[in-house]
Amino acid sequence: MSKIVVFPGSFDPFTKGHEEIVNRGLEIFDKVIIAIGENSQKNYLFSRESRINHIESIFDGQDNIEIKPFTGLTVDFVKKEKANLILRGLRNSSDFNFERTIAQMNHAIQDIESIFLMTTPELSAINSSVIRDIKKNGGDISQFVTNDHLLAYNE
Ligand code: ADP
Repeated sequence: MSKIVVFPGSFDPFTKGHEEIVNRGLEIFDKVIIAIGENSQKNYLFSRESRINHIESIFDGQDNIEIKPFTGLTVDFVKKEKANLILRGLRNSSDFNFERTIAQMNHAIQDIESIFLMTTPELSAINSSVIRDIKKNGGDISQFVTNDHLLAYNE
């Protein structure tokens, strides 16, 4: 049976840190579904379509990757996809504290396991929210985000 893992996130934008977690995930699992969460309460800097196109461009032609937007609970999406596993990246102890709570809740409500990969040290400072700030203020984000020219602002 093929092992499918879901890598959920806002990916606003999808960074080289995310990219590395996906590539390492593929060394362990047969397929990674990159699940782009859509939370109506959140204001995204980059449009949904451009976030999807951007991630597609990075993994162009790889049939062991799927990119899917979703709304609602991550665990419900994971079940719908017939995967029982969630992949997340850990950069530091704040990520750990946050992720531990979510992983324990996900296990309690839907029996979903979470798998964590530690970021490589060179990528651990990469943070989507800091990248949004740099971009909003006219800075260059190309060293943190592959194909950053494909990202378009929300209307
Ligand atoms: P969320 O809004 O759900 O936290 P993000 O898009 O910010 O979504 O992140 C998705 C996942 O990627 C999370 O597990 C996060 O910890 C991880 N992540 C974010 N940046 C990095 C990075 N530089 N290296 C490794 N993992 C990262």
